[in-house]
Amino acid sequence: MGTALVVGASLAGLHAARTLRLEGHVGPIVVVDADVDAPYDKPPLSKQVLAGEWERDRIVLPAATEDLDLDLRLGLRATALDASARTVSFAGADGASTVSFDQLVIATGAAARRLPDTAGIAGVHVVRTLHDALALRSELEAAPSRVVVIGAGFIGAEVASTCRRRGLDVTLVEALSVPLERILGAGMGRVCAAVHVANGVDLRLGVGVDHLDTIEVGGESRVAGVTLTDGSSVAADVVVVGIGVQLNVDWLADSGLSVDDGVVCDASLRAAPGIVAAGDLARYPSSRFGRMLRIEHWETAIAGGEAAARTLLAEQRGESAPVFDPVPWFWSDQYDRKIQLAGRPQPADECVVVEGSTDEFRFVALYGSGDRLTGVLGMNRPRHVVQMRMAMEEGITFTAALERMAAA
Ligand SMILES: Cc1cc2nc3c(=O)[nH]c(=O)nc-3n(C[C@H](O)[C@H](O)[C@H](O)COP(=O)(O)OP(=O)(O)OC[C@H]3O[C@@H](n4cnc5c(N)ncnc54)[C@H](O)[C@@H]3O)c2cc1C
Repeated sequence: MGTALVVGASLAGLHAARTLRLEGHVGPIVVVDADVDAPYDKPPLSKQVLAGEWERDRIVLPAATEDLDLDLRLGLRATALDASARTVSFAGADGASTVSFDQLVIATGAAARRLPDTAGIAGVHVVRTLHDALALRSELEAAPSRVVVIGAGFIGAEVASTCRRRGLDVTLVEALSVPLERILGAGMGRVCAAVHVANGVDLRLGVGVDHLDTIEVGGESRVAGVTLTDGSSVAADVVVVGIGVQLNVDWLADSGLSVDDGVVCDASLRAAPGIVAAGDLARYPSSRFGRMLRIEHWETAIAGGEAAARTLLAEQRGESAPVFDPVPWFWSDQYDRKIQLAGRPQPADECVVVEGSTDEFRFVALYGSGDRLTGVLGMNRPRHVVQMRMAMEEGITFTAALERMAAA
């Protein structure tokens, strides 16, 4: 049975380790992470943690405290995978080390992308780790006169929302003319933009960042504003950069694995014999959506970790591995709205509001391509999203979904 090595002890990695242990792996399970904090959940970082409502004890991942006989090693960064020698090299405070494995789970997720040339400027933040969220929170507690959030994707939108709930003035800058257009399409992206405006955000669309303005304070360079590509400037004491992620795949560079917008896997999340990937960095073929997918959602990271572990267990037993092809689902909490999307629509898909009102920010919309139901979006409509998601799992067509919603 041998040693299972899990690199990345967050949502995907820990759930892989848990499934390996609970479903029959009796050998050692070594779980390694670069972070020094006990494994924690990320969604609250931009919500309750940033708002000052939750402390770190509320976000510890339950799997980290279960009695699973895991060999958890924190503060060690993977630097290289030798797939034929079956070893991973690590760097840590005590120097370099190597761990041998029989089976490997790759779950190193992603890091926040940063603006170029902003390293070392005080007052400029990202939100990906607990450390990031606590650093930003302590600046917000000092009641800055204006926060500028760069990027109106889901993380930027949640940070803007949390800052407004704290009573702060917020400018939200987005390079696209419609936020979230690539994920929700133009119509629904415009609705999400309107939610920010209705909540008092100064929303600047279709404009990029030219540079950050800085001042010298106590010998250090501190952000004082943002100059935009249209020549305008916005004063800022705090800037939060939410411009997407960079996958943590550097350590796989010479591994021989295929890395192309993620670790390329088969339909069972296998990247090579005895090597699987899961979570934000795993790219796999979806027959449900007819293309390769890489999903950055909480639930997919859990389900992917579990599925990847089952692939390894099936290999151990000489059985065929299960196919991983769930209907992706995520939520985002912004102001008093809960936004949920099930499925994976493309921007050009047809989008029909089937219930409620977009003006009231309380509605359900269905997306379709041909007769394929590709997504369901809900704003403050969780029950409808859950029901339609189940119908998607069962393969309901776009026409049948429209008819079902009309009859409801
Ligand atoms: C602020 C925030 C809010 C979110 N909100 C939502 C939400 O509301 N709804 C939703 O569906 N999803 C949300 N998500 C997304 C969700 O949290 C992610 O999809 C999920 O965390 C992905 O899990 P993962 O295990 O694949 O990767 P990650 O969580 O990125 O974990 C990767 C782990 O690998 C470690 N690591 C990285 N490189 C190395 C290395 N070289 N060696 C060793 N260890 C390494 C990291 O330290 C980290 O612990 C949010 C994410 C963030 C950051």
